[in-house]
Amino acid sequence: MKRTFRGGVVFPAALRDKKETALASSFLPILPKQLHLSLRQRNTELEPTVAVGDTIRIGEPLAVDPTGTIPPLHCGISGTVTAIERSLATLDGIPATVITVTNDGSHTFGSLLPPLPENASRDALIQRMYDAGLVGMGGAGFPTHRKYQTDTVRHLLINACECEPYLAGDVRLCIEQADTLTEGIRLFAAAAGIPLREAVFCTESPAAAARLSGLGVRTVLLRGRYPQGSERQLIAAVFGREIPGGCFPADCGFLVSNSATAIAMAEAAHGLPLTHRSVTVSGEVARPVNLLAPIGTPISDLIELAAPLVSGRRCRYIAGGPMTGTRIATLAAGLPKTCGGITVLPAHRTKESACIRCGGCVRVCPAGLMPFRIEAAYLAGERDDTATACISCGCCSYVCPAKRNLAAHIGKARSEMRQRS
Ligand code: SF4
Ligand code: SF4
Repeated sequence: MKRTFRGGVVFPAALRDKKETALASSFLPILPKQLHLSLRQRNTELEPTVAVGDTIRIGEPLAVDPTGTIPPLHCGISGTVTAIERSLATLDGIPATVITVTNDGSHTFGSLLPPLPENASRDALIQRMYDAGLVGMGGAGFPTHRKYQTDTVRHLLINACECEPYLAGDVRLCIEQADTLTEGIRLFAAAAGIPLREAVFCTESPAAAARLSGLGVRTVLLRGRYPQGSERQLIAAVFGREIPGGCFPADCGFLVSNSATAIAMAEAAHGLPLTHRSVTVSGEVARPVNLLAPIGTPISDLIELAAPLVSGRRCRYIAGGPMTGTRIATLAAGLPKTCGGITVLPAHRTKESACIRCGGCVRVCPAGLMPFRIEAAYLAGERDDTATACISCGCCSYVCPAKRNLAAHIGKARSEMRQRS
């Protein structure tokens, strides 16, 4: 059955074609000479467990959070730790401690975690999420072990919507690793304390849905619409349930996990910590590519493989897709666990004009807000509490004929409100 949610946008055929082109690209190998791993994870600085000069092998830990809140960071290549220093070479340009590992080319594995038994307990599965360094790989990076520490879950949604333009690595991974994904979904259901029949694989890709069919997991094929990959919109599309403002999905019995995280869980159960991730390099490039890259691979190495068309012209590099992604401050930064795409776009400035009250932003807002009114309040220095319900999807800015930077202004209004409260 094809379902959807309220609001949102359907992208034009040209953008959908670019996604299909990216989806057709099987994963290319990448062997970076160095990794640059930022220790800042969700505003917490991890502490290094290695020193400069140490030898390190694939799967070994590089840094931990002494409070146990953020899971450890592991190494995806074998080689030597050549630097641990405060650096501006981070995705957002904010200084952080960065570990540099130089590849010895031998691709040697360290001693991995012991494999989990078939019938591992919930506690053992949740502990493994932590030990293997699992975080939500869809973008938010919330620690997976904390997400599953709840007894209120009745339904598990495995999110393979990847609804941003250009990006296709997660869906490609589902197609190529369907058996591993199925195993990960089974483990997630067990960790959530629910039967496998309450888990649903959700995708907009007929190819991914077809690949999963017959593997014992309920699959829902959704009509392509942005931002279907957002938790609340996905729950609305699949179950017809609106999560009330101020509640988390888990409060209403729902848990949403990204499909790439489920695959990482299956690998973790076999002893492999999270060291690599899928990433699509696309946008205005000659050849969109999907890569399975070690965490910490320099962004410049990733872009090189996609042969940018816009070289010679000024371009913007976005971590993620063009709707919710953030500008990359330097191409020397390493790939974080949370980044599933690098989008290369021509640099251009659009000039805002006055709102013409067309109502377009209201029609597309999946959160049911009045973006033009919230923006006007923000620019006038007034407070509009409805801004707190904004999910930063960018639909309002995308459709605005006056090219108003609505999502950015509303995002600022929301952060200012959070800081004051
Ligand atoms: S106001 Fe927020 S939720 Fe609504 S369309 Fe704009 S960015 Fe999306
Ligand atoms: S879409 Fe743009 S022009 Fe139309 S009402 Fe919203 S802010 Fe105004």
